Amino acid sequence: MKEIDDASQGFATRAVRTGHQRTMEGEHGEPIFTTSSFVFQSAAEAAARFAGDEPGNIYARFTNPTVRNFEQRLAVLEGGEVCVATASGMSAILATCMGLMEQGDHLLSSRSIFGSTTVLFDKYLSRFGIQTDYVDLTDVDAWASAIKPNTRLFFVETPSNPLTQLADIAALADLAHAHGCLLAVDNCFCTPALQQPLHLGADIVIHSATKYLDGQGRALGGAVVGDHQTVGEQVFGVLRTAGPTMSPFNAWIFLKGLETLKIRMEAHARSAQQLAIWLEQHPAVERVYYPGLDNHPQQSLAQQQQKAPGGIVSFEVKGGRQAAWQVIDATRMLSITANLGDAKTTITHPASTTHGRLTEEQRDQAGIRQNLIRLAVGLEEVVDIQADLEVGLSGL
Ligand SMILES: *Cc1c(COP(=O)(O)O)cnc(C)c1O
Repeated sequence: MKEIDDASQGFATRAVRTGHQRTMEGEHGEPIFTTSSFVFQSAAEAAARFAGDEPGNIYARFTNPTVRNFEQRLAVLEGGEVCVATASGMSAILATCMGLMEQGDHLLSSRSIFGSTTVLFDKYLSRFGIQTDYVDLTDVDAWASAIKPNTRLFFVETPSNPLTQLADIAALADLAHAHGCLLAVDNCFCTPALQQPLHLGADIVIHSATKYLDGQGRALGGAVVGDHQTVGEQVFGVLRTAGPTMSPFNAWIFLKGLETLKIRMEAHARSAQQLAIWLEQHPAVERVYYPGLDNHPQQSLAQQQQKAPGGIVSFEVKGGRQAAWQVIDATRMLSITANLGDAKTTITHPASTTHGRLTEEQRDQAGIRQNLIRLAVGLEEVVDIQADLEVGLSGL
């Protein structure tokens, strides 16, 4: 039988090939195993599987060949030992926290993270005695002074949404380890095609597969990648028991997404770079946020830790909320939606949507102004995206 992975091969090759264990049918494409349980040859085999003495499928809440195929492929691409797939990005974060923390523990998180993640930490984990503090992701000293004796986990999302600020992953990993903590990175915006946090010293990578891993806005899923102990035992234990499981059909979609991940991420970033430069020179635009621009305060860190600056570009138009809304409403092609990581370019007004729950003061602190627009640049022709934006911009 052919190897299911060959470590001497490059990223794109492994993204296409890893993990498929061809069945006796000789299928070329990866099969979808739609079965909830698996049959044993004998009572003794069932006993051995349940006892963990023998590997193999048992029950689809925690063992399914299609899901495993996705897990093996993503683990390889992130450079981790093990991956656990979950029903959504949020359940990946929940399973990580439940697996690695307990009552009385302290969580240290970067401030600008996905909105639902903040709610999970503040409203739900707090009920179980886990307290969260937030720090500026660019300020390593602030992380150092926020550490408490009971701090267990660092959680960071980089680049941040929507202002594309970066955390220095290697520096945060060193700091975490010096204090007996683990570093978890939500790698949703870069994916392993552009950034591999485990190679920079992080312990855990978390994904919302819903975004770029799918890449075409079709399915909800998540994943956690790390080593045998933390992810293979502790996080997997939560998944196996609590059951926020990825469906085999969704796993198959993400498998197909991984096959094109590298060329898609390169294309997203190439178009985003062109749009950022165009917007920067536009007379109706006040400021552009993109790690590939010379005005980005962390451009050199971006070049060190990312293969490309990514697909998210944010910009402030001249004027206030009304001007921003005018540009958004004048588009005919771009999708007005908060989702990202799709072949279709999406346009968002963060201050009234993703960051709408914050008070005006909190938004000011976070730098989310009323004239800010976020683009998640898709795979359309750049000139067509420009033409669609130009309608509103030229009217300002
Ligand atoms: C979307 C998103 C999540 C949550 O993922 P779901 O799949 O929607 O549950 C978490 N983190 C980031 C950065 C996201 O963009």
